[in-house]
Amino acid sequence: EDAAAIHEWTGPGATADGHAVALLANVQDGASAEVAASAPVEGVGLLRTELAFLDRDAEPSVAEQAEEYSRVLDAFEGRKVVIRTLDAGSDKPLRFVDHGEEANPALGVRGIRVARSSPALLSRQLEAISLAARGRDADGGAGAAMVMAPMVATVDEARTFAAEVRAAGLVPGVMIEVPAAAVLADRILEEVDFVSIGTNDLTQYVMAADRMSGELAEFSDPWQPAVLALVAGVARAGRRAGKPVGVCGEAAADPALACVLTGLGVTSLSAAPAAIRQVGVALERVTHACCEAAADAALGASSAPAAREAARAALTG
Ligand code: PEP
Ligand code: MG
Repeated sequence: EDAAAIHEWTGPGATADGHAVALLANVQDGASAEVAASAPVEGVGLLRTELAFLDRDAEPSVAEQAEEYSRVLDAFEGRKVVIRTLDAGSDKPLRFVDHGEEANPALGVRGIRVARSSPALLSRQLEAISLAARGRDADGGAGAAMVMAPMVATVDEARTFAAEVRAAGLVPGVMIEVPAAAVLADRILEEVDFVSIGTNDLTQYVMAADRMSGELAEFSDPWQPAVLALVAGVARAGRRAGKPVGVCGEAAADPALACVLTGLGVTSLSAAPAAIRQVGVALERVTHACCEAAADAALGASSAPAAREAARAALTG
């Protein structure tokens, strides 16, 4: 019965009582976007551009980049698309980006920090996105290209990035995946039009546990109440600002956690396309009040397993 319901789910994302949660796809290039476009998603919540160019020895030209981004925008014509600027470094080093020698790459020059030494790399990427987006809806509605920066840690980084993105005629946002950015979400939301929480890195940095470490897997768990508390704070900041707060980490692919995130006030969930239907079915089986009760229960738990269990009880009770 579950398998049939999941197979047949067609969206859009909403709870049983009609509280809408946009369900979006994580993609990595034009080809994966063309596949994802036939999934029941309202758009792309995360285009990991660094993955599109992982095999390159040299920086792709502006024209080449524009062509890749156009494929994604074409596949999702009329739907929302969030393009993330290069998140090079740490677990995703690019050969055409100089990261230097680093003892702790996860705490090093990655994401937006690369723009400190190579500002032109970011400018060329924004030029390519702007070229790809030209002639499409530029008023921030469906079809507009939204652009977000990874690894933003300060309000100043958000402000500088937003200015450059707006100058390119695009809609600026930032990822919230460094704890400092979550703590100052109110002030960051004054600078940008939206934020998207990257729970993979946010968990890594909040729990001080390498996301690649199997031995520390119990720390690297987005059900950790400390992670959920930060998500709750960012969602509240988004409500105060009247701006969207998404989640685009693996957490969004976990059906029970998706309900909890919805209860915390997150407005969109972006995950691997294959996970979207199960999330959609989980959401349509519960009310928004039930999601809020599950969120409260998880926030009040003292461990990740206890949070999981408390939420499950609230969602099925
Ligand atoms: C994240 O950190 O949660 C995220 C979505 O980005 P990535 O997994 O690409 O670091
Ligand atoms: Mg990340």
